[in-house]
Amino acid sequence: MATSLLETFLTRARQRPERPVLDFEQQRFTAGPLAGRVAAFASALQRRGLKPGERVALFLENSPAFVIAYLGTQYAGGVVVLVNTQYRQVELGHILSDAGARACVTGAAGAAELAPLKAQLPALEWLVTVEPPGAPVPWPAVDFDALLAEGDASATLPLPRGEQLAVLGYTSGTTGRSKGAMLLHRNLLANVRAVTEAWRWTEHDRLLLTLPLFHTHGLMVGLHGTLYSGGSVDLRRRFAAPEVLSALQEDASLTMFFGVPTMYGRLVEEARRTGVRPRPLRLLVSGSAPLSPQLFHDVEETFGQRILERYGMTETIMNTTNPYEGERRPGTVGMPYPGQEARVVDVRTRQPLPDGETGEIEVRGPHVFAGYWQRPDATAESFDAEGWFRTGDLGLRDSDGYFQITGRARELIISGGFNVYPREVEEVLATHPGVAEVAVLGLPDPDFGEQVVAVVVPRAPAPAAQALADFCKDRLASFKKPRRVEFVEALPRNALGKVQKHLLRERLLPKAAPPIVQK
Ligand code: ATP
Ligand code: MG
Repeated sequence: MATSLLETFLTRARQRPERPVLDFEQQRFTAGPLAGRVAAFASALQRRGLKPGERVALFLENSPAFVIAYLGTQYAGGVVVLVNTQYRQVELGHILSDAGARACVTGAAGAAELAPLKAQLPALEWLVTVEPPGAPVPWPAVDFDALLAEGDASATLPLPRGEQLAVLGYTSGTTGRSKGAMLLHRNLLANVRAVTEAWRWTEHDRLLLTLPLFHTHGLMVGLHGTLYSGGSVDLRRRFAAPEVLSALQEDASLTMFFGVPTMYGRLVEEARRTGVRPRPLRLLVSGSAPLSPQLFHDVEETFGQRILERYGMTETIMNTTNPYEGERRPGTVGMPYPGQEARVVDVRTRQPLPDGETGEIEVRGPHVFAGYWQRPDATAESFDAEGWFRTGDLGLRDSDGYFQITGRARELIISGGFNVYPREVEEVLATHPGVAEVAVLGLPDPDFGEQVVAVVVPRAPAPAAQALADFCKDRLASFKKPRRVEFVEALPRNALGKVQKHLLRERLLPKAAPPIVQK
């Protein structure tokens, strides 16, 4: 039995070296040459002194170099640190110093972004650059292809053990500063086994992948599933709705597409605008953020098939999935994968709740990470004595076993002693014709502890704040009605389209203005 996904990939590559694995722009990589580059990268890292357990950061766009450096670092016994390419100096400095990365693989723009951080990153010794840096960088830099040439494509190195650290995945920082989740080789393997089984992923599959590889959904679902099943991937640098639609219309070899809800929203819009109709695929997946029932139905109309919604996170990679063969229910994230457990507990007593009641979702199983890097307190707070991991997500399980996510535990608003789930209020407001986008959050209130605040991106003709509050009042209990409505041009979102409410909160807090809507 293999002890790592890397081992499975290398074994397959040895057995069927001619099998296509990765297409990117005009390049095609078959398994043998790809595995050769992985071995060359790994042996070059070792020759340059990388020791087992040392960290190598990838600050890199989707590309074959990403895939090679990712697997190559693991083959060298190193730990991959994933860094969002949209991050700038503050986030980069935090992650690279927290991880103590010894080397970083990046492009010209990445090298320029890193340069001013020299003093802050004493552990960083050298860079691997996939293109020449535009300006001198304060570290020795080696070109990616030159590094491959230093290595040995036929090297056979010791394989990582299951208990060894494979990846430090930094959480998206939606609710605060991002934390490094320690994922072991056995966690990666348990996850990829579960997802390939649940979705009947085989070597006949071909995935169109436009999600970023620095994030769980693209990397540990999309790429891992491909490598494990023996299928292939059509990897794109980034998502663009017109390109994706035409690929889905023209390329009959594609069988799967994975996206976040924002992508599906754009695809539906683009299909309506152009009349382009994608061919049906074996599997369309949405995850990383809530897919509204409205969008679920819009996708069904556009693609002529039901999308499968999944729920995962950096720490566990995947928690639940709608069934491949059974009913896919809009507004739900389905049930645990084979071999994994999920439950809902009371936020205060931590006791399991009956079906239908809302509390915090907890998960347990071989997929769950080994703790937060250098944060024993955060780790201890996140696990109970029986190994249940607190996801920080609120939700419920219905009587048929389908889980629903209602928001984040940190974002639960307690107003006058009543629980208000922001997502419920958001869903109501989103149905108002004058609302393009909305985020609901709680701000301190002298009378009620917290007050419900709606931040709205209006659609012309812009509604009055009072009209929106009344709209809620007609549809929800009065304590859920927003006491304050703020209009903004856009909501702050991270790379995966998740609204960063902590930034909205910071923006709104200093204004001690009286409520816009009278109580
Ligand atoms: P941080 O932990 O730093 O605040 P984050 O939780 O957004 O950031 P990720 O690990 O990238 O970082 O995201 C996981 C979270 O995304 C989940 O905990 C959940 O809140 C949300 N999520 C993922 N899939 C879904 C889904 N299908 N529906 C609703 N929410 C989802
Ligand atoms: Mg999180």
